[in-house]
Amino acid sequence: MEVKIVQNILAANDALAEKNREIFEKQGIFVINLLSAPGSGKTTLLEKTIAALNKEMKIAVIEGDISTSRDADRLKKYEIPVVQINTENIGGDCHLDANMIHSAINNLDLSSIDLLIIENVGNLVCPAEFKVGENCKVVMISVAEGDDKVLKYPLAFNVSKLVLLNKIDLLSYTDFDKEKFIKEVKMVNPSAEILSLSAKTGEGIENWLEWVKEKVCRRK
Ligand code: MG
Ligand code: ZN
Repeated sequence: MEVKIVQNILAANDALAEKNREIFEKQGIFVINLLSAPGSGKTTLLEKTIAALNKEMKIAVIEGDISTSRDADRLKKYEIPVVQINTENIGGDCHLDANMIHSAINNLDLSSIDLLIIENVGNLVCPAEFKVGENCKVVMISVAEGDDKVLKYPLAFNVSKLVLLNKIDLLSYTDFDKEKFIKEVKMVNPSAEILSLSAKTGEGIENWLEWVKEKVCRRK
């Protein structure tokens, strides 16, 4: 019985996600659904991405958090459209769903956006199960979290087109085994692309920026 209810919820979500996807496609917007655990560096990556690409494309962000507008506040100085979703007001969900995104995009002028980045609630579990209308999911993990997370949270890595390994500036301070990590990503998702970077120091970030630019360009 419970399994059936979950399946129904996901089917209803997928139908609305498809509507969102059609809206984004019509407007030529490339949409990234960014997943990670709390503290892996999603907002820092967004800050660096916006600072680097803001002049050549129009970027908007939807911030998902259970509580506070701390991440949205960090993006204020870039003067781009940012919509904050706080799930504590709607049941405290630990993920964003298609309905939340459908409401959030009413607050955006979609005709003037090239790239929409959705920073999901920090959580490697259920955000992976919910489509919101994105072109692709990108999952980020940081060196500080340890190299054992891929097989513990395989769905997040399985459904993501791109895997970002962040905080590589910390590699020499930890026993993170990068080869093992890459091998395990390939086990759960043979077609995944993997990029290593440090959002903080900027090392490797140009590969991510190129990846984004290519996707946005192809969408236009
Ligand atoms: Mg954040
Ligand atoms: Zn959840």
